[in-house]
Amino acid sequence: MLNSTSYLDFLSKILADQVRQVTIANNSIEYTVTTANGLEVCQTTPDGDTEALIQLLQKQGVNFKVENSHPTSPNPWATVVLGLAFPALALASAWLLQKQGDGDSNSFGAYGVGKSKAKVYTQGQTGITFKDVAGVTEAKQELQEVVDFLKNDQKYRNLGAKIPQGVLLVGPPGTGKTLLAKAVAGEAGVPFFSISGSEFVEVFVGVGAARVRDLFAKAKRQAPCIIFIDELDAIGKARSSNPQIGGGNDEREQTLNQLLVEMDGFGSNSGVILIGATNRPEVLDAALRRPGRFDRQVTVDRPDKLGRVAILNVHVQGVKIGADVQLEAVATQTAGFSGADLANLVNEAALLAARYDRQAVEMTDFNAAFERVVAGLENRARVLNPIEKKTVAYHEVGHALVGALTPGGGKVSKISIVPRGMGALGYTLQLPEEDRFLLDSTEIAGQIATLLGGRVAEELVFGRISTGAADDIQKATDLAEKAITQYGMNQVLGPVAFDRTTSQFLGGSNRRQISDQVAQQIDQQVKASIDQAYQVAKDILISNRDLLESITQQLLDQEVLEGDELKNLLAQAQAVYA
Ligand code: ADP
Ligand code: MG
Ligand code: ZN
Repeated sequence: MLNSTSYLDFLSKILADQVRQVTIANNSIEYTVTTANGLEVCQTTPDGDTEALIQLLQKQGVNFKVENSHPTSPNPWATVVLGLAFPALALASAWLLQKQGDGDSNSFGAYGVGKSKAKVYTQGQTGITFKDVAGVTEAKQELQEVVDFLKNDQKYRNLGAKIPQGVLLVGPPGTGKTLLAKAVAGEAGVPFFSISGSEFVEVFVGVGAARVRDLFAKAKRQAPCIIFIDELDAIGKARSSNPQIGGGNDEREQTLNQLLVEMDGFGSNSGVILIGATNRPEVLDAALRRPGRFDRQVTVDRPDKLGRVAILNVHVQGVKIGADVQLEAVATQTAGFSGADLANLVNEAALLAARYDRQAVEMTDFNAAFERVVAGLENRARVLNPIEKKTVAYHEVGHALVGALTPGGGKVSKISIVPRGMGALGYTLQLPEEDRFLLDSTEIAGQIATLLGGRVAEELVFGRISTGAADDIQKATDLAEKAITQYGMNQVLGPVAFDRTTSQFLGGSNRRQISDQVAQQIDQQVKASIDQAYQVAKDILISNRDLLESITQQLLDQEVLEGDELKNLLAQAQAVYA
């Protein structure tokens, strides 16, 4: 009565939680499965890695034994199948295994296939509130709203307001995304389900999807609550544009699809709010970002100097700090550190102090710890050396000053030299004061000059230039070319479109058939408008040389300039062309 089955069939039955007992011999595997008619004994031929099989069996909580080559006495299970009270026995043993395995089963008969491993912290138990998260003021403000949704969900429900259900926290590692998600749960006093995207991605197709289903089922029973999916990119990567043969991505895609299904399924008023975290938002599947899914994005960036002081203050709680320690000085030194780096720094300093048997952690310990931590960070290379920092500061202030004095770019609202996660070493933010649909040619020229302002500042101040302007130069050149070839703004070439735009939405354009002569003219004119804009930027910065100096000093000191402070500084700039 031994049913011969394929190995694949065997695996899928394990995943479907139908397999009860497995005996692995050298060339044969015997197992019992539950069927509609009770238990059945089957046999299959091993095809693949026994180690992997064993891991799977352990994970699924299936009773198994491995037999060595020497034949054993008659298989005890075979005899059981011949008639006795085996079903009860099998259930009992599976139950026991389940008990010690998953630790999360609360219903009899739940064998843990794809049972989500989400840890449940009940009411308030994350024990973390916004007080524990320092220096990410904007993110906290945005999340405060989510706290309110969770706390007063009845109020919103009564009004018929739609509560957002997916918030995506985006930022480099160690900036406090996990901490923030926990703090939201803590502030709202709701349960917190947490799972990491990478945990979903299993070797065996189907497990991830089952986990997602289970996680949402559990969460819905405990609403209002938070589901936190860390490393969302591990499941949420854009679905394969190059379909892999053999379906190497099957598992991830199934999991992702299930996630989408669940998100759409629970409607906006279920009281379940999803928080996802990623440091690679650009790889996420577009479907995840649609309205009703992760449609809110909260940026969690590396802290500026004030933020770092605040974070250091959080982490020195409970650490004995000597009188000579100036956290502000530590913060000045640590531009580019994330919250986790700072926490690590404090701990390293405390360890060093302990090694020297000190009564309290002293400034020398912080300095020594800094060196250690930086050495460890070197590969991540986000800590600027003082010369780079200065270069970046002058560069950004150059953009800001030219931007303030030329039309087209909007108001300069922020300058920052805190290295950003996605590669920028500093940035200048210009915000349009109103919606703009048309730009005139002076505004385009102003934008080009503003883009070049960074490079010009470097040249003026240091007499040498750096690679930092590459992106600006690219953009400036693109803009100058477009003005000529698409907008017909050039005096010499006139209102002729040399580019045929292929699609407004897909972007892209191709050049019409043009003569070599015209091609040459276009090149010359692009170069001329760049040169002209460069000169404008140069004139502006030369006449405002002192202001460039003083704003840069202030920026180096504070790392971020914004609001009224910045407005007043830039208001001192002297226009060159009245
Ligand atoms: P992420 O999830 O963004 O990678 P975590 O939330 O896991 O970062 O942060 C790791 C640790 O670093 C936290 O447990 C905390 O000790 C510290 N940390 C990070 N950011 C902050 C912050 N803004 N305020 C206080 N501590 C922080
Ligand atoms: Mg995290
Ligand atoms: Zn720049």
